[in-house]
Amino acid sequence: MGKILVFAEHTNGKLKRSSIELLHAGFNSGNEVAAVVFGTHGDDIVSALNQNGASEVHILKDGALDSYNPELYATNLISIIGKIQPAIILASASSVGKDLFPKIAARLNTGIASDCVSLNISGDNVTATKPMYSGKAIATVNFENSPIKIVLMRANQLPIESIDGAKSSKVVEHSLVASDLRTMIKEIVKGTSEKLDLTEANIIVSGGRGLKEASGFQMLNDLADVLGATVGASRAVVDSGWVGHGMQVGQTGKTVAPSLYIAVGISGAIQHLAGMSGSKVIVAINSDANAPIFQKATYGIVGDAFEIIPKLTEEFKKALHN
Ligand SMILES: Cc1cc2nc3c(=O)[nH]c(=O)nc-3n(C[C@H](O)[C@H](O)[C@H](O)COP(=O)(O)OP(=O)(O)OC[C@H]3O[C@@H](n4cnc5c(N)ncnc54)[C@H](O)[C@@H]3O)c2cc1C
Repeated sequence: MGKILVFAEHTNGKLKRSSIELLHAGFNSGNEVAAVVFGTHGDDIVSALNQNGASEVHILKDGALDSYNPELYATNLISIIGKIQPAIILASASSVGKDLFPKIAARLNTGIASDCVSLNISGDNVTATKPMYSGKAIATVNFENSPIKIVLMRANQLPIESIDGAKSSKVVEHSLVASDLRTMIKEIVKGTSEKLDLTEANIIVSGGRGLKEASGFQMLNDLADVLGATVGASRAVVDSGWVGHGMQVGQTGKTVAPSLYIAVGISGAIQHLAGMSGSKVIVAINSDANAPIFQKATYGIVGDAFEIIPKLTEEFKKALHN
């Protein structure tokens, strides 16, 4: 049985939940799991990787990798892959994953399945499923003639069960392989939100044109604060300039798969559904009982969002914080 390499993403040294899901999937397959982590981080990330199933941790601790740079990441990851020789690579279908791994697959002349929602590993064989045509069809993907099978998984699709992590961990430190960079990051302007990115969030409260104007989002922010949720939006309100594009969910925005998605004043256009129909529980709040979103919703509330949301917020506050 070949080795599984997990590309572990972290935020300031804290392992992302999506990477923990991949480590557990690898560990539970019975294959040996190696993890690779880039950039500056504390030593505790090694024990976190170990506890979540990695028996081998490859570190490339260099400030040059703190921000994603496609060429530098690709050159260095290919060099490490050459040393580890994994049979399977698991990574998140994050913006970094979706940019980086097609390059890796092309350079290694191997197969890649992106944006997957389920995964089955049996020895060196991998089967994954992925939505196609904005979620209208689900494709089952197998690999042929692929020396390494690369799978990019959407977040929140794989279970994190309590595991008795790997017994011992070998830690290998790598040095940066310099690369002739054609692009470089000069500045990163961070958003103001302290909340989890939409693609990582477990609960999302999303608003649409039914909120009437930008100030309508204040009540969603209040509800999100009570629930510990991240706020998303439909394209209609992004195009109107009420909120930034980083909050857009859908075909031309982010693909999300939280445990709970609350759609407020969103009609449920196919392009919006394409980004959120993988959510486990969908609650729709809309004044029009015939809005298409109700066909996808697990629970629906027909009514005026301006009456319902403040009441919901109050009730959740009582239930969760008393
Ligand atoms: C190529 C392409 C890509 C696209 N990509 C995306 C995408 O990524 N994401 C996306 O979201 N859209 C996308 N769209 C746009 C999409 O087709 C819809 O236009 C958009 O999703 C509609 O946004 P909405 O539901 O907020 O607005 P509307 O369709 O106008 O719906 C507003 C809803 O609010 C309800 N409402 C009104 N008042 C209230 C109230 N007081 N209380 C409760 N409910 C109320 C109404 O009944 C209605 O259902 C794309 C379109 C194209 C052509």
